[in-house]
Amino acid sequence: MKPADELADLIGPHRVGSHPADLHRHATDRSTSALLARRAGTPYDLPQCVVRPHTTEQVAQVLEWAQRTRTPVVPYGGGSGVSDGIVSGGAVVIELRALNEILDFDEKSRLVRTQSGVLGPDLAKALRSWGQTLGHEPQSMGISTVGGWVATRASGQLSARYGSIEDMISGLEAVLPGGRVLRSKTVPRRATGPDLASLMVGSEGTLGIVTEVTLKVSPLPTERANRCVRFQHMADGVAACRKIAQSGLAPTLVRLYDPEDAAIFLRNMPEETPGTLLLLSFEEAGAVQRADQAVELSSGVPGDDSLVDHWWEHRNDAVEQLMILMSGEGVLGPHGLVDTIEVSGTWSGLRELYHSMKDALSELADIAACHLSHIYPDGGCLYFTLASACEDDAVAAVVLERWWEVGMEACLQAGGSISHHHGIGRRKARWLPEELGEWWDVLRSVKAAIDPHGIMNPGALGLGAS
Ligand SMILES: Cc1cc2nc3c(=O)[nH]c(=O)nc-3n(C[C@H](O)[C@H](O)[C@H](O)COP(=O)(O)OP(=O)(O)OC[C@H]3O[C@@H](n4cnc5c(N)ncnc54)[C@H](O)[C@@H]3O)c2cc1C
Repeated sequence: MKPADELADLIGPHRVGSHPADLHRHATDRSTSALLARRAGTPYDLPQCVVRPHTTEQVAQVLEWAQRTRTPVVPYGGGSGVSDGIVSGGAVVIELRALNEILDFDEKSRLVRTQSGVLGPDLAKALRSWGQTLGHEPQSMGISTVGGWVATRASGQLSARYGSIEDMISGLEAVLPGGRVLRSKTVPRRATGPDLASLMVGSEGTLGIVTEVTLKVSPLPTERANRCVRFQHMADGVAACRKIAQSGLAPTLVRLYDPEDAAIFLRNMPEETPGTLLLLSFEEAGAVQRADQAVELSSGVPGDDSLVDHWWEHRNDAVEQLMILMSGEGVLGPHGLVDTIEVSGTWSGLRELYHSMKDALSELADIAACHLSHIYPDGGCLYFTLASACEDDAVAAVVLERWWEVGMEACLQAGGSISHHHGIGRRKARWLPEELGEWWDVLRSVKAAIDPHGIMNPGALGLGAS
């Protein structure tokens, strides 16, 4: 029997898809290499079928079957990943969107328990009805799932106040290869040996499938104060961000654009001059006073605060823009290429990290723009946007590889980490051993112990069949 037929027997024929359109849709994520291959008509392998379990028990049945038949499986949430985390040719895709129930809201403990296939806006809507917010706002909010956030160790644009996804997780349920269901206890903290459930956070589908997550939520903010500050040099802006991060002023939004990135942000506002631009938002009690203190602390020149409103309104436009540019219909022309590289470093090393990556990437791209966001008392994330109008798609493919080789090497040489929040997938797998050092062997041993037959998303994180 074919896998699709066996799986139909197992969880029902309506839960298994093999229509070519379904297979094409689930063959990749939204990485630039995948979008480029689709535009160029480069052939890519299709999965065997797409299964859509709607309970944890069904996920367990599918993973038991996969282990028994040694069939590779690739978990698929919203498919919004940008790191080639999903390359499912020849595998069975386990699409998790049917795990779409929000199971419980514990008002007293401010915890929401949800199945992992719930999309960002659905969770936000339910939380709003209870006067709450998760505060996790990736640009891809509308097209990504709770399970995908956990599996990629995602970070939203408001991380300065709410933290990243790992800070929000209070407990989770996951299914291991072979079908064993593991549940972690939901408690605020415990000292009961290593935190094993956190192995799933950032595991990118290589260790198991996250089926349920309990998340910490906060009351919806009632007040917001926005401020824009301008600087002469990026270094002054970086110094201001460090002071704000270490001040206890608790901003919600911190986004420092370098002149090239400010030009992208202001592209529809010709009356505004680019330059180094810092956007800040503060929420809740004392928001206005804290915003004013931050501006003073920054030693910058106050700018037009309405630019921050503009950012809030357009904060997720990148989802559509990426698709337009990579379809060849945008301002970069038919062979336009755009990708993003997000790295992290400490404040002591951030200046060198910025310059080494910026200088190297500017040689290779028409535009190499950068913003600093996701700030911490000890450092921050540098997010590079690279864009080029290429001669043809074959040239674009070569340019893309050069961006990554040069960007990753410059990052590692300057002491940065190769991913702040997009994960590793297959795109950055080559550099993971250097990034992790001795821990690379530990990761491989963990993979061998949990997934001895190497059936879970083989290739992601550079972990193949062992
Ligand atoms: C325009 C754009 C903007 C973006 N902005 C942000 C941003 O602001 N912040 C950010 O962090 N990311 C961002 N991303 C990246 C992406 O949206 C995130 O990585 C997101 O967390 C992926 O969620 P998903 O549900 O789409 O996962 P998918 O893309 O479906 O999967 C991602 C990886 O996780 C695995 N996986 C998915 N679900 C599960 C599960 N339940 N259990 C186990 N493994 C699973 C998959 O196998 C794959 O390896 C952006 C992407 C785009 C296209």
